[in-house]
Amino acid sequence: QEEKIPHQKKVINKRPSEPAVFIPVDRSPEIQEARLKLPVLAEEQVIMEAVRENPCVVICGETGSGKTTQVPQFLYEAGYASGSGIIGITEPRRVAAVSMSHRVAKEMNLPTQVVSYQIRYEGNVTSDTKIKFMTDGVLLKEIQKDFLLQRYSVVIIDEAHERSVYTDILIGLLSRIVPLRDKKGMPMKLLIMSATLRVEDFTENLKLFRTPPPVIKVDARQFPVTIHFNKRTPLEDYTGEAFHKTCKIHRMLPPGGILVFLTGQAEVHSLCRRLRKAFPFRKGNTTTAEDEGADTSEAMRKFKKAKQKKTVSLPRIDLDNYSALPVDEGDEDREAGIGDEEDGGSDLDLGDDSADSEEKSDPSIPLYVLPLYSLLAPEQQAKVFRPPPTGTRLCVVATNVAETSLTIPGIKYVVDCGRVKKRFYDRVTGVSSFKVTWTSQASANQRAGRAGRTEPGHCYRLYSSAVFGDFSLFSEAEITRRPVEDLILQMKDLNIEKVVNFPFPTPPSAEALIAAEELLISLGALEEPPRTGRMNELQRAKLSCPITPLGRAMASFPVAPRYGKMLALGKQQDCLPYVIAVVAAMTVREIFEDLDRPAHSEDESSKLTQRRVRLTQTRRLWAGHGPSLLLGDLMVMLGAVGACEYAGCTRKFCENNGLRYKAMLEIRRLRGQLTNAVNAVCPEVGVFVDPKMTPPTEHQVVCLRQIVLAGLGDHLARRVQAEDMLDPKWKNGYKTPLMDDPVFIHPSSALFKTLPEFVVYQEIMETSKMYMRGVSAVEAEWIPQLLPQYCHFSPPLETPAPRFCSSTGTVRCHRPSTFFRVGWQLPAVEM
Ligand code: ADP
Ligand code: MG
Repeated sequence: QEEKIPHQKKVINKRPSEPAVFIPVDRSPEIQEARLKLPVLAEEQVIMEAVRENPCVVICGETGSGKTTQVPQFLYEAGYASGSGIIGITEPRRVAAVSMSHRVAKEMNLPTQVVSYQIRYEGNVTSDTKIKFMTDGVLLKEIQKDFLLQRYSVVIIDEAHERSVYTDILIGLLSRIVPLRDKKGMPMKLLIMSATLRVEDFTENLKLFRTPPPVIKVDARQFPVTIHFNKRTPLEDYTGEAFHKTCKIHRMLPPGGILVFLTGQAEVHSLCRRLRKAFPFRKGNTTTAEDEGADTSEAMRKFKKAKQKKTVSLPRIDLDNYSALPVDEGDEDREAGIGDEEDGGSDLDLGDDSADSEEKSDPSIPLYVLPLYSLLAPEQQAKVFRPPPTGTRLCVVATNVAETSLTIPGIKYVVDCGRVKKRFYDRVTGVSSFKVTWTSQASANQRAGRAGRTEPGHCYRLYSSAVFGDFSLFSEAEITRRPVEDLILQMKDLNIEKVVNFPFPTPPSAEALIAAEELLISLGALEEPPRTGRMNELQRAKLSCPITPLGRAMASFPVAPRYGKMLALGKQQDCLPYVIAVVAAMTVREIFEDLDRPAHSEDESSKLTQRRVRLTQTRRLWAGHGPSLLLGDLMVMLGAVGACEYAGCTRKFCENNGLRYKAMLEIRRLRGQLTNAVNAVCPEVGVFVDPKMTPPTEHQVVCLRQIVLAGLGDHLARRVQAEDMLDPKWKNGYKTPLMDDPVFIHPSSALFKTLPEFVVYQEIMETSKMYMRGVSAVEAEWIPQLLPQYCHFSPPLETPAPRFCSSTGTVRCHRPSTFFRVGWQLPAVEM
């Protein structure tokens, strides 16, 4: 190794593109003074030396130490943007990309044509751009167009500790791109910046380069923060609790900014409104209207337009989460400097009497309340960095964007709800959704640390120390929590074909990768590999099937590929609103009240029986009759969604009709979200979800059943044939390709009495027997058309009435139906 380094040095110094210049920057004296206080300035020489001598460098440092704002400036001054190449910085969050570009432009006294940003829907990049902040998704798309990233002389991956899937894939990709650029004589530098010291995944696990990249640690000053736990943990209304705590801090404690952590945009606005009402601040204060109209994103604009045109009474969509950026954390070096953690006792402890409801307003000290979340308009975001009007106290109500991406000056008090909204994947349904969960200890400590940037501070945790003890230490890389078929499809969409060989910082298992690839081939998202007879594991693992146009459409929806396929096919026969509703309903687990629950008393038992009878009738009504019945349990879901919306989605309606109110609200939200996604992929379709759908026509029901088969094809089951019936255990049983034992239609299913020959199911649950849930009937002749891989054709397909046997048995096939091809057009995919 010792020999290699001088050798490397020599080679590097010979490179013509190696900058040897110093580009002066004209900073204002105030900026210059402020920067000198940043810990990262002390490391400038070390960092730049390391960058010159190594293709890849890792920089770790406490949030606020100046990594994001200063490192691009070091590189600029050292001439890395003086040639044809520019400096690119990726952020997992849009808000950081936008606000950091503005900040750096201001610090360097350069226009935004030179220090620019690019996020999914907007940007101000010009041909003069030298420093470009962008989201990690944007850089991934650029790699798709130009694998060598020839525009860039340096790429900085910021916030790598968040371990977002995009960041992980980017690091893997760049580990290939950097050596390739080297070979072509156009060297590029890679910097990985992280707020945590847990960087082994990048340096040890990932064999990025022949020698592990050097890690430069930036020491930051951190003042002690006193932690105050609640004695009790409010289960539901933590926004209310946050309100009371903030009011108390403002009325009782010495000056200093307050930073409140909540989980989402809606909560942030709700708390802002309550606080402004309690502590009115007239002159110069912004009204809520301004904040409310602040969403400039394309999706929101479209949605608003749709709202004006048609009466879409869907709830406001939480675009904070719609950005599909994973909200994750993974810091562990936060204990140091956080101060003593104790259950109250300090003189600044505010007690735990959250029960007192009326907060008296104290108009003498106005509270300057500002919201902060990912998709807030940049002008609004910028306000948090400016000093509050004199004589007021700053109070920022934020989602966890304020945790590591942004540093707000002057914060002395932190109020932490302890929760985070996270993308959550259900391993059974494979569906992703957003849920509020407890955060990790590392993340809570990171939040607390926000109070100790400029002087000793206090953190009020709205939960008990016992609850904190149960938090996970830090969360895993997102990649290990994600079903991989989803991820593989995303990567294929980026034209990364040999996924097995991909250098993941934390790789998923080979079996998981192979299974995912096979499912995607069967869904038609990937091209089928050439048939080479039976393949062994190794050969299969080496499959590198390219993505199909259908796969690209599927990749653009925020649901698992099976459901993505249904959405991609939903365009025909005006079925899209129904497909969206069915996919939304399947995504939310358990929309129906459990009718089989045990009763605890005689009285309850008879009431429950009555209710069961009544609700069974209701569900039968939703299932319809005749052809619509064949859509089975999915028709019941569709009927329930339609009926519930028709009644205004009230709690009362849900209770009366055996629906879970929370689930129905979630479906409503998801329908809006999926509608936005479909419109984004395929604007010419222009679906508007009318919550009060009219029931589908018979023709549409047939179409829906085919779409469901196309998506859930690998969950096909066939009723046992006469010859198998000898064994009583098979009575009314179904065979599936993957299981030896029979599975059954549950007595509560709409198809329990019908027992169709072929069905597809959403999932199998094992209770007293193996029961299929979410069952829908399919016609035999659709199977060779939609799932040829499950069929053997004999004699060959060309003959008019081929016999085929599916892996679930032999059936007679009439002429392969051409129905499904009618109007089957894929939406145009915009790249
Ligand atoms: P890091 O990336 O290490 O977390 P940053 O470079 O984001 O650190 O922040 C360095 C300093 O710059 C912080 O003290 C922060 O308060 C300040 N800062 C960042 N953005 C702004 C802004 N828009 N206005 C004023 N100060 C800012
Ligand atoms: Mg930063």
